[in-house]
Parts: sequence; C-alpha cells; structure tokens
Amino acid sequence: MDGTYLIRTFGCQMNEHDSERIAGLLMADGMRAVDEVESARVIVLNTCAIRENADNKLYGNLGHLKPAKLANPELRIVVSGCLAQKDQGEIQRRAPWVDVVVGTHALPHLLELLRRSERDGPQMDVREHTETFPSALPAVRLDAFRAWVSISPGCDNACTFCIVPLVRGPQRSRSVGDILAEVRGLAARGVVEVTLLGQNVNTYGRDVSDAGSSRTPLFAELLRQVGRVDGIRRVRFTSPHPHDFTPDVIDAMAETPAVCEHIHFPLQSGSDDVLRRMRRSYRRERYLGWLERIREAIPAIAVSTDIIVGFPGESDLDFSQTLEAVDAARFDSAYMFQYSPRPGTRAASFDEQVPKPVVQERFDRLVELQERISTEAGAALVGETVEVLVEGGDRKGRSTRSRTRTNRIVHLADRLDPGSFHEARIVAAAAHHLTGELVPAPAASTS
Ligand code: SF4
Repeated sequence: MDGTYLIRTFGCQMNEHDSERIAGLLMADGMRAVDEVESARVIVLNTCAIRENADNKLYGNLGHLKPAKLANPELRIVVSGCLAQKDQGEIQRRAPWVDVVVGTHALPHLLELLRRSERDGPQMDVREHTETFPSALPAVRLDAFRAWVSISPGCDNACTFCIVPLVRGPQRSRSVGDILAEVRGLAARGVVEVTLLGQNVNTYGRDVSDAGSSRTPLFAELLRQVGRVDGIRRVRFTSPHPHDFTPDVIDAMAETPAVCEHIHFPLQSGSDDVLRRMRRSYRRERYLGWLERIREAIPAIAVSTDIIVGFPGESDLDFSQTLEAVDAARFDSAYMFQYSPRPGTRAASFDEQVPKPVVQERFDRLVELQERISTEAGAALVGETVEVLVEGGDRKGRSTRSRTRTNRIVHLADRLDPGSFHEARIVAAAAHHLTGELVPAPAASTS
C-alpha cells in the first residue's frame, strides 16, 4: 500500500510494543510515518482498556477524526488494541467511519484487512486466539538503543479488577531460542538495553518446553541467558507477580551483572481482605517478606509498585493497612490509581463501590505519603556517582534526560548522544527525578 501512516498509542508497554509491530508491518508494505493527521493516509488508534474513561477517550478521538474522513474517503481509520478486542462490533456501530477494527490476536492480518476495507468496506477481525506470535512480525523500534522484547503476553490469573485475560487471552510463552535470537539481533543493531515484557514474567515458560525435551524453561534461566548476550548492558523486566515470585529469580538478578537493580513489584493493596477480593493470592506479610529478601540479596535495588485505592468494599481500616504497608515497604516510586469499574471485569459488578469523594480523599493521602518517601529515597542519592544511559534531550535541546540502572530519571545540563553511557554525580533530588553533573571520564594514561 502506498502512502503514509500515523499511529497513536494509549496504555502500557505491551501496547507500545504492538505499535512498533504495526509500524513495522506498514513500513514493510512501503508506507512511511508522518506526524500530522492531515498528511496521513492510514491512522491507527492503538487502544487501552485499562485506564479510566478509555472508551470516552477513544470515541472522543474518533469524533475528531470524522471530518477528516468525510473530507477524504481515501483515509483509512484503524482501531487496534485492547478496546478493539473488548468492544468489537460496538466500535463500528458507534463510529461507522472506522475502516478496520483489529483485535490483539489479529495484528498479523492488518494489511489484508486494510486492503479488503478499500474493496469491500469496513472490516473487523477480533479472533480469540493468536496464530502468529506478534514478535515474528517486523518492528520499527522507537529507540535505536533500547527495546522491548515480548516473552509471554496474556495472563492465566483472574484478578477481579483486570481486563487483561479477557482482551489478551491466556499466557503464551515464546521459546527461549526465539527470544535469544531476537535479543542477539537487537544487540547486533546497537541496542544496549532490553526490557522483557510479560503480564506475569515469573510464570514465563509454564506453557512451553525446551527444544528436544519435556522440561519447561524458567524465567530465572532466561534472565541469565539474556544477560550474557554480548553488547546488552542493561536487562529489565516487567512485571513479576508476588504470588509466583521465587528465590531463583532473586539469585539470577543478583548474579547477572547486566540485570538492573530495579524491580516493579505490584502490591495493589496492603489489606489482606482487599487482596482476597481482588483474587491476588499473596498476603501483605508475604509480600513484605519478599521485599526484605530481595533487598538483602541486592542492597542497591530500587522498588516500584502499583496500588489501587478505593477497590469495592475498601474500608477505612483496609486503607489504613495500605498506608502502613507503603510506609513499611519504602517504595522508590509508585503508580497509584483510583479504582473505577471496568466493564467486563468481575469487580465491576461488586456491591459496595466506594463513593468518589472518599476515594479521592484516600488517594490524596496516599500520594502525599508516597511523594515524601520518594523524595527521601532520592535525597539519599545526593553526592553519589551513578552510571546513566542517555535517553534524549528536552524539547528545546538545552539539557539531557538520562536514566540510572535503578530506573531513576537524571537531568543533566550537557547535550549528550542518546544511547551513550556516562558517570554522573547526583546534586539534587525531587520525588520524580534527580539532577546530576557529568563526571568527566578519566584521561587515558600515556605511560
Ligand atoms: S496478574 Fe492479575 S492484574 Fe496482572 S494481568 Fe493477570 S489478571 Fe491482570
């Protein structure tokens, strides 16, 4: 197909990665990326079903695109991602100017759907199972120096607040050989950092077996092998589930130099009663016990988490237990969410939805506590020298944004090349970023 494309991505890293695959498909078909709606021949909205108001956002965006479609019938409008999988025919019923609805399992068929839409009108493919692993598709990577690598999309759990099992299906692990081949290929192209992506990385491998045996591969072994790939200096992963966490993963993290000192470890709530209603099968003490073991093995580790405030039935006591857990856990950072019912999830039909003003008041208290802890954790780094990887400049090109191995943003006054490593001394800290000064590399010895 000739022409230009524009992709707008909403939601998580899994979606960002799918957008790289969509871009790869369109580019392999001869198209090129543009930034403006007016100059695009194909517009893809790669949607998320997790965030609050996801539907309103989608239909708002589609409303804005309608005049462009009426003015230019050649324009193709595509809705992909989790909302496409969840809402299916509803999308073209509410926005009949959408040409293609393509679900999470049907990405490999995007080009075919686009062509059919030109010939036969609106198309939809929201099949329930993946036939071609998305990672087998071409990709246009957002950065030249770091990349996401999908290892096990889908999820076999049934957390009552989560839409993922419905829209992404059960877990499907890639083989170790496939993953290593992708990582080696990335390293050969100059990628220095990879993030392994799975809905629950700890259960990676349960559904496949090693080539030539009946043994299932383990996430800890995968971490070690990815960490040994030449040229890969940083390995990250997201996310482990506290229920399935195992000591061999801590050992692999501690013993593999390339694995970064950062873990995203979703707590969700500090109340055992709420965790039970969420169908999160660990309890607060067990969670905190894991944190202690991880910090003992890797003292420099930074920990981030997810917390939901106002889950149905959350009492004042439940919420105070979350505050206590946050105080005890000393997270370096946290993604905090106000619960809102997502159609299609079990929790959406639970009684005792917590009134919005109560949720807001609790949320504000939690944010205040976490900001204080994050600021204190940052302040403890002032005066330290750390390795940073440059990600890019600010919009005006006056300074550089870089990242520590512990996943903290460091702003530097110098202009540096994206993808380059430097040593920086931390001179100031705020809750969400640090400020650093470049430490000059020692002069090479002439003797
Ligand atoms: S572990 Fe729970 S929250 Fe995470 S994707 Fe699976 S069902 Fe959703």
